[in-house]
Amino acid sequence: MKAPDFAYARPASLDEALALLAAHGEDAVPLAGGQSLVTTLNLRLSAPSVLVDLNAIPGLSGITEAEGVVRVGAMARHREVGTSEIVRARLPLLAAAMPHIAHPAIRNRGTIGGSVALADPATEWPACCLALDATIVVRGPQAERRIAARDFFQGLYATALRPGEIVVAVEFPLPASDAVWGFDELARRRGDYALAGLAATARRTGAGLADMRLAFFGLADRPVLAVAAAAALEAGDLTGAQAALADELDPPVDPGTRPETRLHLARVILGRVAGRMLAGE
Ligand code: FAD
Repeated sequence: MKAPDFAYARPASLDEALALLAAHGEDAVPLAGGQSLVTTLNLRLSAPSVLVDLNAIPGLSGITEAEGVVRVGAMARHREVGTSEIVRARLPLLAAAMPHIAHPAIRNRGTIGGSVALADPATEWPACCLALDATIVVRGPQAERRIAARDFFQGLYATALRPGEIVVAVEFPLPASDAVWGFDELARRRGDYALAGLAATARRTGAGLADMRLAFFGLADRPVLAVAAAAALEAGDLTGAQAALADELDPPVDPGTRPETRLHLARVILGRVAGRMLAGE
């Protein structure tokens, strides 16, 4: 199908982009990598009157480290995030998650800002943001807001973003020196959206793990921190952790995969990830 008619603007500054969004109200939407937005246009699932292209705005790209934080610009492409030297050294969880996102062509264009703004519950970056306790930095016409990932993702394609606001960066606190991480995902085919995924972080304490953060994706209407499962794992009780997932996750009902199947897959990847984290792999 062909996209409906729309006007196109390519502002050269963030202020100009914010002014365009304010002038056109909810009829205008930001365009980042276009890997989801253009699909919805072509399928006529959305029909904004104006696309405000963020690609020429300086300052929205780049990955930097300062004062205990890695700041990833909203326009950083998926591939750029996963291959960044800073990310590989400081946030290896992101580097491990990146190859699971779609296919190379999509990873070369799609952006982290677009991914968190879209908030597809089956995607990798939102869960990584939750596991790593990231902050989403947004700019609106009046001011900047800084929103913890746990407050940002509010439901199916729903976030704390207000109309007219733009995600400008995602900030990740540097993990502690004894931090460990784990990632796994099951999909029908490589590159498909996850049926069940898990991004996990913890601190190593002797033979055990502490401060576990288990962020599941594909298993509810948003990424979910499984708090009871994390507590059980910290106590060394994997079976209890797997059982706790029945109350903590709410797998979607879809024609292809039964919720019980997704829950089973969640338990499987929890076992794998916990085993690797405990083994120090
Ligand atoms: P766009 O498509 O440009 O925008 C998406 C939405 O976010 C739009 O509503 C737009 O207005 C808004 N937006 C974009 N940037 C901003 C911003 N800075 N501030 C505020 N709002 C903004 N993704 C995965 O994570 N995992 C997958 O496995 C996966 N598989 C895919 C398979 C296919 C076949 C396709 C087509 C896409 C897949 N994607 C997957 C989606 C892909 O990663 C997209 O790139 C991503 O979801 C959106 O990023 P984008 O930069 O392309 O955003």
